[in-house]
Amino acid sequence: MRTNVENFFLDLLFPKFCFRCKKEGSFLCQDCMSTLDILNSSFCLCKNPQRLPQAGKCYRCQAKKLNGLYFAISYKNNLVKNLIHQFKYDPYVKELSVSLSSLIITHLLTIQKSFDRDNSVLIPVPVTKKRKKLRGFNPSEEIAKELAKNLNLPLLADCLIKIKETRPQMELSAEERMENIKGVFAVENAEKIKDKKILLVDDVYTTGSTMEECAGALKGSGAFEVWGVVVAREE
Ligand SMILES: [Zn+2]
Ligand SMILES: [Zn+2]
Repeated sequence: MRTNVENFFLDLLFPKFCFRCKKEGSFLCQDCMSTLDILNSSFCLCKNPQRLPQAGKCYRCQAKKLNGLYFAISYKNNLVKNLIHQFKYDPYVKELSVSLSSLIITHLLTIQKSFDRDNSVLIPVPVTKKRKKLRGFNPSEEIAKELAKNLNLPLLADCLIKIKETRPQMELSAEERMENIKGVFAVENAEKIKDKKILLVDDVYTTGSTMEECAGALKGSGAFEVWGVVVAREE
């Protein structure tokens, strides 16, 4: 953790500019953030997601391991798409995790959802050790860290691990994605997740095959429920 003084000098050396309006101060200024259409309701996990009275899933999705999904905004939003892309591929904007997680927090406030510290834990969708080293950080973990601070929930980064490198899911069809991701996650320190409600954090939800695979591993090791928490959902 950096001190305020260190932050002050870092800001002087590497000033941040809003990705949209170029105003100095942050990667996404308050004005631009307020133009974003943060969702005020919950949707199912299905392909053409239907609105639900509260987060969860419809009768067609009952067989899925994931209990439901919280997402702040549609990935169709170009500004959000750009922010997430920058965040994933440019290590200099690691702090975008602050703006991205605040979108999630705004959504949770809007739908009046809070989580109980006694039984809920945050777990980021992991990358392999090698990938994390190459990139310097795991984007999902950075978002999860910010959520942990703001929602006052424990973050467990040593329970779900990725044991095999996979081809980028972006290049693959829905069926190929499922095959590509099968068996690549493992659970360690299972006692920490036993009977817990897991909030599984990622940046974007696309077909859901990654989250489904993670949810299977977590539930197989004793987790009570697994809920996805992402910034944006691709539709
Ligand atoms: Zn701005
Ligand atoms: Zn459904």
